[in-house]
Parts: sequence; C-alpha cells; structure tokens
Amino acid sequence: MKNPPFNYHRPATVAEALDLLAKHGDDAKVLAGGQSLLPVMALRLGQPEHLIDISAIDELKAISVNDGVTIGAMVRHAEAEKSAEVKQHAPLVAAALPHVGHRAIRNRGTVVGSIAHADAAAEMPAVCLATEATMTIASTDGARTVAAADFFEGFFSTALAPHELLSHVHFPAANATTGTAVVEVSRRHGDYAMCGLACSIDAGGGTISSAALAFFGVAGTAVRVADAEASLIGKPPTADAFAAAADIVKATLDPSDDIHATAAYRKHIAATLTRRGLAEATSTIGVPA
Ligand SMILES: Cc1cc2nc3c(=O)[nH]c(=O)nc-3n(C[C@H](O)[C@H](O)[C@H](O)COP(=O)(O)OP(=O)(O)OC[C@H]3O[C@@H](n4cnc5c(N)ncnc54)[C@H](O)[C@@H]3O)c2cc1C
Repeated sequence: MKNPPFNYHRPATVAEALDLLAKHGDDAKVLAGGQSLLPVMALRLGQPEHLIDISAIDELKAISVNDGVTIGAMVRHAEAEKSAEVKQHAPLVAAALPHVGHRAIRNRGTVVGSIAHADAAAEMPAVCLATEATMTIASTDGARTVAAADFFEGFFSTALAPHELLSHVHFPAANATTGTAVVEVSRRHGDYAMCGLACSIDAGGGTISSAALAFFGVAGTAVRVADAEASLIGKPPTADAFAAAADIVKATLDPSDDIHATAAYRKHIAATLTRRGLAEATSTIGVPA
C-alpha cells in the first residue's frame, strides 16, 4: 500500500530538527528507522503532513559509557546489539535486542524509536522500566529529563509533546552481582510477544537485595509488579521464592482478551515467565557479558 503524501525534511543537526518540530508541531512526526511509522502511515492510521528524518544527524548516532550507557536517537537496534559497551554496562538492553522483530527490522529500527513509539508489546519500554532509565527530551525550549516510570503514559502514549525530540536514553550501570533476562512467548520468533518479561535480580552474598519485574504485552503500557518484587527481597534466589513471586504476578496483572490470546492465558504465561526469567537471570550473575 502506498504512503499518503507528506513533506520530507532531512535536518543535519539537532538544532535544525528542533526548529522544524517547533514550526510544524502537531502536523509533524519524527522519522527514525521508519519500521513502525511507515507501516502506520501505509495503513492510514496516521497521516502526518511533515516527516522530519533524523537519520543524517551525527550527534544522535553515539553510544556512550557514563555510569551506564547512553544511547542516541539514531543508534539502530543492530548497532546496539553488536556493542560491547551495551553488553557490559546495560546487559538487560543486550538481552532484549535479539527479541526485537527480525534482523532486517533491527538493521533499520532504532532503540530510542522503539521507546518513543511505546508499543505495549515491545521489549524496550519494559527494559526502560526495569532499569529505571532516564529519557532526555529536547525542544527549542531546552532539554528536560524524565524518568521511565513517568514517561510511558498509556497505549502508544508518552510524555513527549509534538514539538519534542527524544534525543537520548540513559540506562544506569548494572552492578556485578546483578543478573538479567528477557523471556517472552510469541507465536513465531520475531512476532510481538503475547506476554514478555524483562527482569533483573541482585543476589550478591546469596540473598536477594533488589529485583525488577517489568512485563510487556499485558496492559496498555509495560508494567512493573512491585508486590512481587518486594516478596523476593531478603530471600535466597530459589525456585520457591520465584514461585511465590509468580503467584503474586498472576494475582496482580489484569490483561485483556484479544485476538492473540485470552486474559487467562496471558496471566498463566506471566507466572511461568516469572519463574523462568528469575531463574535465567540468577544464572547470569557473575558471568562476564
Ligand atoms: C514486522 C515487524 C515486527 C516487529 N516486531 C517488533 C518486536 O517484536 N518488538 C519490538 O519492540 N518492535 C518490533 N517492531 C518495531 C520495530 O522495533 C521498530 O523499529 C520500532 O518500534 C520503532 O523504531 P524506528 O526507529 O523504526 O521508529 P519509527 O518507525 O521511525 O518511529 C516510530 C514512532 O516513534 C516516533 N519517534 C521515533 N524516534 C523518535 C525520537 N527520537 N523522538 C521522538 N519521536 C520519535 C516517530 O515519530 C513515530 O511516531 C516490529 C516492526 C515490524 C515492521
């Protein structure tokens, strides 16, 4: 299907992109990898008059290490997947990337675009919640930072205003006693997950001191289950502790039925993934990335 007509802009700097966003506001969309935006336009689910292609902006192409990893808006999934820095300092991001679509999609799509798009079934928003990532949002008014917990507001909805650019996302460093895993169930590899989990567990000294359980595909946004996380604290990382957390997850999540799965099936998968994800995350503690 052909895309509707649009005006195409290709700024060379962030400042130029922000001027264009300020000028065209509600009628403009940022074009990063195009892996979600172009299908949305082809299906006439969105018809922006102006596309602001940020792919020529060199300032947005870096991955930098700074008490964690900061990923610029034009870092493609495939580049982050190959990055030794991401593996070492943001292992949960590295664990999620192979689950994002297919290689062809990862060659074009961007990590930050995935976060800005905020699909409830996508991996990256859940990774942002689990790692407590920080978003840097730029506009002609200046830059502001927003915590992941405040960024995802609902179904495909974020704290970004139409004239703003999500320029970078910072993922805090994981420490050496933290294990991470991303586990999910989808009908075919590369499909969006019916339910998935991005999790981390810190069990230095044989006792769990912190845990993060962020689910995707079960609500309008990715969600953490705080009670299940709290139930793990102070316990050894055993199958019994993981099963108790899984019971809380099952009782807490409130997914809907849709054409892909029933709510009851999603709850069942979420509990299974809790046990599986925590066991896998524990097995990675102390293993060099
Ligand atoms: C067949 C298929 C399967 C897929 N499977 C998965 C999957 O399993 N998991 C998954 O997570 N994703 C999946 N995707 C989506 C893919 O990961 C996209 O790359 C990603 O969602 C968006 O990144 P992008 O760079 O392509 O963004 P674009 O498509 O360019 O943009 C997406 C949206 O975000 C906005 N945007 C992008 N960057 C910025 C920015 N820096 N600031 C402000 N707004 C911005 C755009 O305006 C647009 O509204 C799939 C896509 C396809 C086509």
